[in-house]
Amino acid sequence: EKIFHNVHDKMISCLPREIYNLLKTFGQFGDEVGLNVYVVGGFVRDLLMDNPSFDIDLVVERDGLKFAEHAAEKLKATLVKHDKFLTASLFFNGRRVDVATARIEYYEAPTELPQVEISTIRKDLYRRDFTINAMAIKLNHKDFGLLLDFFGGQEDIQNKKIRCLHTLSFIEDPTRILRAVRFEVRFDFTIEEETERLMREAIHQGYLEKVSGQRIRQEFEKIVQEIKAVKAIKRLAEFDAIKRTFPGTFYTATMEEKLRALFDFLPWAEKHFGQVDRFYSVMFVLLEYHNEQLLNEIKERYGLSLKFLQQLKLLKKMIIPLSQMIKLRMNFSDIYKVTHDISPEGFCYIASYLEPDDQEYLKQFLERVSTVKLTISGKDLIDKFGLKPSKKLGEILESIYCAKLDGLIDDSNELEYVKSLIESASSNSR
Ligand code: ATP
Repeated sequence: EKIFHNVHDKMISCLPREIYNLLKTFGQFGDEVGLNVYVVGGFVRDLLMDNPSFDIDLVVERDGLKFAEHAAEKLKATLVKHDKFLTASLFFNGRRVDVATARIEYYEAPTELPQVEISTIRKDLYRRDFTINAMAIKLNHKDFGLLLDFFGGQEDIQNKKIRCLHTLSFIEDPTRILRAVRFEVRFDFTIEEETERLMREAIHQGYLEKVSGQRIRQEFEKIVQEIKAVKAIKRLAEFDAIKRTFPGTFYTATMEEKLRALFDFLPWAEKHFGQVDRFYSVMFVLLEYHNEQLLNEIKERYGLSLKFLQQLKLLKKMIIPLSQMIKLRMNFSDIYKVTHDISPEGFCYIASYLEPDDQEYLKQFLERVSTVKLTISGKDLIDKFGLKPSKKLGEILESIYCAKLDGLIDDSNELEYVKSLIESASSNSR
């Protein structure tokens, strides 16, 4: 494969018109301000893999901010600049386009200009993680569609390899360890032999522990969003990267089963609850056996919320009895009485202990809890039945709700049931 190679035909055949036109427009904006513009990274990779994505990352030589200001004006886009980093984001038509600057280093400028330009974008690409992510396509009119592949990205796509760009890659940025696994599993590629050796070396030497927890968490959050998240976590464990990232977590066959069950349940839960934080739901499984001290260290490192820790503490005690109750198909009301304070992520954790049939029962339960509503209120009990405001009132409402959950009553006979409850309560107290 050639370093320079025109992929215009591929862009025409693979990209939606809208995206193609947008790239043309960016090239034109570059011409108007006299700057070279490239689309880079994941966009180029996905295009070459015939699976186009629409996240556009641009690199502009010399002055990305000037380009971004011009583009923002022309597109009537909202511009957010990060002057310190010479980067900017454009927001328009519900889309976000990131612009970065590749700085020309003038001390090497004396030769012809094209040489300087090539070395500038080349350097930008050399700072990236893997060969498949280190390609660019030029967008300026004259060279529109010119692919720049200095490091063999096309060949690695063909051979399905994840390959880093230099031997210090994982030392420089250990989060690339997580990224390598994420891309390997997503694309069904293999981490190239030397790259794998460098990864293992960096992990073994403790580099994962040197990165800020926030950066590790960011990459781990991306892993749990992957379709094959469990496979990726398993692969990380094979690299010893799980126990390095979460001290005290030892990946076992049982843990894997729980993760599988969890990820089987998540799509349903996300629909049901509106959204579920996948990261926290996985944390339940990875941290369930941790003692207070280890847990606190991990909480500090990754900025885990207090609410999560409380849920974990609560569920540690309840998970076994609760999953037992579900397996025994106990009444919804019995389950309801002990699950008041459980978060959506907590329910997903419970699901990780359940077989498919039992997960179905849990779904029916949650479905029912969210659809059953009382027609009577506490105010009705006071106004219509002459009850006094008290704790008892809440208890009566809850027993009505529970009877409804179990299907003993429905809207039509709710009122009768209330009457009988109140009568028996008063006859008991007599
Ligand atoms: P995805 O499809 O998951 O969004 P992506 O390749 O677009 O994949 P991003 O995390 O958005 O992933 O990164 C965009 C680009 O920035 C990458 O393609 C890569 O070139 C570069 N990049 C991101 N993170 C790193 C890193 N830690 N080290 C080096 N380069 C990186």
